[in-house]
Amino acid sequence: MKYSIPRYWRSRRNLYRLEAVKCRSCSKINYPPSTTCRYCGSRDVELFEVNGLAKLITWTAVYSEPEGFEVFKPIVVGVVEFPECGVRVLARITDVDLNELREGLVLEPILRKISEDGEAGIIRYSLAFRPKMKE
Ligand SMILES: [Zn+2]
Repeated sequence: MKYSIPRYWRSRRNLYRLEAVKCRSCSKINYPPSTTCRYCGSRDVELFEVNGLAKLITWTAVYSEPEGFEVFKPIVVGVVEFPECGVRVLARITDVDLNELREGLVLEPILRKISEDGEAGIIRYSLAFRPKMKE
C-alpha cells in the first residue's frame, strides 16, 4: 500500500503503538481498541497502551513470502500474549532461530523496518517481537 506523507503522519499512532481499551462497566479488555465494549456494549471505555513482555502462544514459518519480503524468509508469524492484560496479538517474530521457538518463550516488542518508499522518503516500520535478551 502506498502512503502519502500526510496519511502516514495521521496513522502513525495506529502503526506504532499497541493499544487496547478497558471497559469501565464490565472490566473486560477489548483488543483491537474500540469506542464500544464488544462484551457489554458500554461506551465507557478507557484507552491504554499495551506494553511489557509477552509470551509466545503459537507460531508458524511462512516460506512463500510476498514480493518485497524475500529478505525476511522464512517469515515467522506468531500469536503472542501479554500476560498482565491478556491481549493477544498476531505479529512477526524476529531475531530467532526456528529451533528456539517454543510455547511460553518470553518476547519483547520492537519496531522493525519493513520497507522504504524512495519517492516519498517514507521508511515504514512494523511491530514485531523478538526473544527477550538475556542481561
Ligand atoms: Zn464492557
